Amino acid sequence: PSSVTEYDTIAAISTPPGEGAISIVRLSGDQAVAVAKKIFKGRDLEKVASHTINYGHITDPADGSLVDEVMVSVMRAPKTFTREDVVEINTHGGIVATNKVLQLLLGYGARMAEPGEFTKRAFLNGRIDLTQAESVMDLIRAKTDKAMQVAVNQLDGNLHHLISNLRQEILDSLAQVEVNIDYPEYDTDQMTTNLLLEKARMVSKKIDGLLKTADSGEILQHGLGTAIVGKPNVGKSSLLNRLLDEEKAIVTDVAGTTRDVVEQYVNIDGVPLKLIDTAGIRKTDDKVEKIGVERSKTALQGADLVIVVLDSSRELVDDDIELLNATNDKRRIIIFNKNDLMPVITPETVEQIKSDDVILKTSAIKNDGIETIKQTISKIFNAGLEDNSNNVIITSARQAGLLRKAKNSLNDVISGIEAGMPIDLVQIDMTACWDTLGEITGESYQDELITQLFSQFCLGK
Ligand code: GDP
Ligand code: ZN
Repeated sequence: PSSVTEYDTIAAISTPPGEGAISIVRLSGDQAVAVAKKIFKGRDLEKVASHTINYGHITDPADGSLVDEVMVSVMRAPKTFTREDVVEINTHGGIVATNKVLQLLLGYGARMAEPGEFTKRAFLNGRIDLTQAESVMDLIRAKTDKAMQVAVNQLDGNLHHLISNLRQEILDSLAQVEVNIDYPEYDTDQMTTNLLLEKARMVSKKIDGLLKTADSGEILQHGLGTAIVGKPNVGKSSLLNRLLDEEKAIVTDVAGTTRDVVEQYVNIDGVPLKLIDTAGIRKTDDKVEKIGVERSKTALQGADLVIVVLDSSRELVDDDIELLNATNDKRRIIIFNKNDLMPVITPETVEQIKSDDVILKTSAIKNDGIETIKQTISKIFNAGLEDNSNNVIITSARQAGLLRKAKNSLNDVISGIEAGMPIDLVQIDMTACWDTLGEITGESYQDELITQLFSQFCLGK
């Protein structure tokens, strides 16, 4: 009965599936220690001090057979991740023994945890807010150190504090409106209106700043989807290999060898680049090649960035021009590769190039210009982070969506005041904004949302 809220006791394997040296089976709930005790031979777990690690053995009470030699951590509420009693059993007998330990726990009073249920309890028991819960998920999925660092910041509560402060500002202004409505004899109307307007503009500006980081946050989470396109033999695979710094894509003289779309992540100065190597857009009757072309076009559509590779040592052909036209409205980098050979085409002679295109000259063979490609990509990522003084990056589409919704309410506040709307109507929009911001941190939330959010977690977290 030492935990904050009464929930049943849950158990799951918390380490990633697969063969590891050590696995952890985690228990959380009022009965965590009692359940573990039933299958543990060693010191009396109900008598050991909190936050201790205890050596012993797991045995099957049914027949007394030995299952594994273990270390058991006992952590009493409330200073635990879930704010409930938590027991972690470190097994080392491999996946079979670990599964057996879990099965025994389930047989002696624990229930199998749902995905994300440990984190969900941390949230429900008030240990973390929703942005922090989401950062736990981000941490698990982090592809680079930078993504990890952003997640740790958020777990620390940076976004939580920022949103809480904005909500407080709104609440203060609403309180002021209440005073005005309760005491209409004081002529404070203009003052209150001005205050609301000022607050709405201030909060709106803060939200804009946060929203600007959302693109970078999205890239951190999912990678910058990048398609490298070009007709066969211009050097796509060679450039890709230079970017990857290892020979993962096949480089060859035969046109159209890179038939399959290879998807790989590359860490470019902390930016996860999701590279999509394609067969290049090319009209052909070759069946296998056709699949590649189709995939190329699909990849092109989904890409956040397109790297168009041209061979600067040859005249442009229809395929090049078609490709330049097809990527005309995309964020693109146009590469004049084979810069080590005599140039036949230059950026000045290619009329499909627009003024805002990034043009780079490279030689994959001489490893020349690769650094510039990396810098260009870095720039794209950092574009939204220039005035990010709060060191907070919006990494979830859920958060970004709610921020946009909150901003819409503020726009209504501002336009309402400007149109001379009665203050109690303006107040409704301001309150809506306050509510929406509360959804971000989970202060105002709906059950379905919570269920949906935590179901995205992996088991044991
Ligand atoms: P892809 O079909 O576009 O992927 O082109 P590859 O990367 O397979 O390269 C085709 C051929 O061009 C290979 O023989 C490469 O060695 C060669 N190549 C690639 N990049 C360069 C470069 O910068 N300079 C020169 N001279 N040859 C290159
Ligand atoms: Zn996404």
